[in-house]
This record gives sequence, structure tokens and C-alpha cells, in this order.
Amino acid sequence: MATSGDTSELHSPLDGQRLAGIPQSSVDDVDGAFQRARTAQQAWSGSNTADRAAILLRLHDLVLDRQAELLDLIQLESGKSRTHAFDEIAHVALTARYYARRLHKLIGGDRRLGALPGLTSVWVHRVPKGVVGVISPWNYPLTMAISDGIAAVAAGNAVVHKPDSQTPLTALAGVELLRRAGLPEDVWTVVTGPGAQIGTAIVDRADYVSFTGSTETGAGIARRLSDRMVGSSLELGGKNPMIVLPEADVERAAAGAVDACFSSAGQLCVSVERLYVHDSIYTRFRDAFVRRVRALKIDTGLDWRADIGSLVSAAQLEKTMKHVDNALANGASVAVGGNARPELGPYVHEPTVLENVSEAADCFAEETFGPVVSLYRYSTPAEAIALANAGDYGLNASIWGPTRQAREVAGAIMAGTVNINEGYAASFASIDAPMGGMRRSGMGRRQADEGLWRYTESQTVAAQRVMPMAGFGRLTHRSNARILTAGLRLLRRTPRA
Ligand code: NAD
Repeated sequence: MATSGDTSELHSPLDGQRLAGIPQSSVDDVDGAFQRARTAQQAWSGSNTADRAAILLRLHDLVLDRQAELLDLIQLESGKSRTHAFDEIAHVALTARYYARRLHKLIGGDRRLGALPGLTSVWVHRVPKGVVGVISPWNYPLTMAISDGIAAVAAGNAVVHKPDSQTPLTALAGVELLRRAGLPEDVWTVVTGPGAQIGTAIVDRADYVSFTGSTETGAGIARRLSDRMVGSSLELGGKNPMIVLPEADVERAAAGAVDACFSSAGQLCVSVERLYVHDSIYTRFRDAFVRRVRALKIDTGLDWRADIGSLVSAAQLEKTMKHVDNALANGASVAVGGNARPELGPYVHEPTVLENVSEAADCFAEETFGPVVSLYRYSTPAEAIALANAGDYGLNASIWGPTRQAREVAGAIMAGTVNINEGYAASFASIDAPMGGMRRSGMGRRQADEGLWRYTESQTVAAQRVMPMAGFGRLTHRSNARILTAGLRLLRRTPRA
């Protein structure tokens, strides 16, 4: 919905070509979208779960069938390689199937233990919040736009959605497929425009906000929502560590580190930017990792040849280059990479491995959100845990080594997801498990039960039979207290009560 009359020009990061003029929404458009969404939500929340599940399964099939054009769009808008764009197709399909299959169980009503067994019956209903605001980023323009929103509509909400201004076409294509799958038009409206204006207008009107983006913006949204006592889930930044244990398979860990650090050219919230390797295998790991990184094929074509593509914008390239330069100025050395590659594309930067990065360097604790990783040594598990837990973030961690040892280390790591012998994909693709951040990496969780229940209010409905909870009116207070005391003693002896 966009009637302001303004248009924003969209160019591809792959080669600078003009993609489209994007009509911009006004605050009045956001108002209109919410009004229509509120009306549509009334009818939608009364639809049955089987019909909603069928829409999700049709979306699943459409996303797989129409992947070629979606992959082109993701690449053209974000600059990433086709193989990394495909991760988004798979994630939408996984999420759609998961919620389609689980929907009835998740919101169909839940029996609970009543206060007085046999006399008190209790159900928990999941009531949709109303209209959910979804504010999505540019780095995963399809799945961060669609997967958070489909859980909201599956739960009976309507959505007003603002994609990032760098990637609106991918988001619109995803929403178009939802319409084709059968989602009524006003149940999901897309508005466009700058975050400070249009994002804020959504935040001020929504009954719940699902936000993915930077920690700074997320914190501002949480502050703003607190005035209206409206909830949010915030998926924010990270400075994700990887630990390689001394017993790890070095070649496997080195290959895994490549995926962990350089998917979507490092512009991935769960990407690894700090790599801690045990002293005893440091040199072997370093050499294997550097060899693999050097062999990566950088390319910006709309085909499957590239291992790694472009960054999304001049701003992302500038931040990446600044972090590398600043690390070098503070004593770091480049093991591989380190340079922009303008001859391959305006925003291309080599995958880069740094060593000897000092605490004074910006990239020591700050998120780069680019293809740069720092290698460090450690000598004891306690030291590795302390290093991994340093800083304010807590999104994802990766540990390589035998599963039993790695799980022990995992238990001590402050991160919402910990992947063993994988970088991030094992947890990210396991939709039956929650995903989100601790500390300044966010609040709330996407995926799993929590990922859908965040969009609902729990409503407890309790029905009482025979004996009122306050006791029988014809008896004295003392007699009722005696009856209840005897009842409580009986329940104490009943293991399942
Ligand atoms: P950003 O916060 O600037 O923008 C994200 C979205 O918020 C965009 O749609 C933007 O238009 C909108 N926005 C901006 N200002 C707003 C405001 N004041 N009110 C409401 N909406 C506003 O983020 P970015 O810097 O473009 O994205 C990169 C960051 O996002 C990185 O730090 C990365 O770690 C994080 N991220 C996290 C996840 C995750 O799942 N945890 C996923 C992707 C990106």
C-alpha cells in the first residue's frame, strides 16, 4: 500500500543496474493498512485451522516450484550467491510445513489440571493478539519477511509488514505467493519506506511487533512499545564464537568454519566472527582453513557457480573495510583475503581471516556483519568458555569436537543456539526448536511452539462443578475450611494431582 506519490529508486548491488522505482507509503497508508487489517482479522481469526494449514502447505509448494524467480530476486536485491539464497527458500518451506502440521495442536485448546480434580475443569485458549507489525531486514529478504509473518497469520492475526528499503521486491514476491496460496488480501499488507518514519508508524499501531535488525533499532522499538504495554520479539545482532576442541576432526572443522563464517558474505545474524582454536591443533586448523578460504570462488552471476557473492551496499563494504584496516592498524595480520574486489562487483569483498587481533581493534567485540573472522588460540576449556562468553551478545555459538564434550561446553555458553559440528544451520533449520538471542542479541524466540505462541494471549477458562471454590454456603466457614484441608491432604497423597 503506497499512495504518497514518492518513489525510491532501487539498484542491484551486483552491478548497480536499476531494478525498479518503489512507490513509498505515507503514515496515512500505514493507518489505512491497520484499519483494513483489523476488519480482515475479525473474519480470519474465525477461520478453521485446517484451512489455514492448507494455505501454509500450498505456500510450501509454491516457494519450491517458483524458486528460480525467487532466487533471481534475492540475488539481485541482496547480492548474495545463489547457494546462499537457496537457504531462504528451504527455510520458508521448512517453516510453512512445520506450522501447518502443528497448528491445530498449538492453538486448538489445551486441557490443564484443575484445582479440585473432577470438580474443576480448565482449558487454555490461545487468542490472537490482533494485528502484528513485522519489520524485516535486507540480509535474508525472503525468509525473515515471510517466516515470522506466517506464524502470526497461522495463529489468527493479520500482519502489516515493512520490509527493508533495499529488498522490497523479494518480500512482495513472497507475499504474492501467500495470496496465491489463498491468504485473504487484507490479512497481510506490505508498506514501504524509511524505518524511522514507516517502521515507527507500525510500532505505534501494532498489537505486537516482530522485529529483525540491529540491536540499536531493536532497543529503541522496545522502549517505544513499553509505553503502550505492547509486546515484541526482537532478533538482533551477534558476535558469534566458534570453539574448536583439541579432539576435533581438523579438516571437517575447517570446512565447517567456511560455511559458518562466510554464508551470505558474513551478513548473517548467526554467522561466526570469532574463532577459538586449541593450541595443540591451531597451526593445522589454520592452514586447512586458509587453504579452503583461498579456494572459494567469488562471483556475482545469477547462477550456481559462486561460493560467495557480494555485500549488499556501499555502507556494508565500507564497514567491512574499516574493520580490516583498523585491525591491521592495531597489530593484526591477514592470513587470507583482506581486500575489496571492485573488478568483480561494486561491493565485493574477499572472505578474510585475521590473526593477532588485539582488544583495541573494533572487530574484536563489535559485529562486522561482513566476511571477516578473527582467529585466536586457547589452552583450556575454561579459557575457551570465558572467551566465547565475553561481550554483550548471545545469539549463536558453534563447537567442534566429540558430541559429549561439546555438549558439556555448550551448557556453559551464553547463546540462544549452540551448534555442534555445524556453524548455525543445524539449529536454524530445526524449526521444532526455538531460535533467538540472549543478552543484547534479542528478546523472545522465533520457531517452535514459542515462535507461534508469541503472537497469542493465553486465556484460561475454568469451569467449576458441584462444590464452589469458596465452599458450600449452607456450611460455616470453619466447616468449609475443614473440608478443604481434608481435600488438600488427600491430594498430597495422590502422586498425579
Ligand atoms: P536496521 O535495524 O537498521 O533495519 C532493520 C529493519 O528495521 C529495516 O526494515 C529498517 O527499515 C527498519 N527500521 C530502521 N529504523 C527503524 C525504526 N526507528 N523503527 C522501526 N523500524 C526501523 O538493521 P540493519 O543494520 O539494516 O540490519 C543489520 C543488523 O540486523 C545486523 O546487526 C544483524 O545482526 C541484525 N540481524 C539480526 C537477525 C536475527 O535474526 N537476529 C537477522 C538479520 C539481521
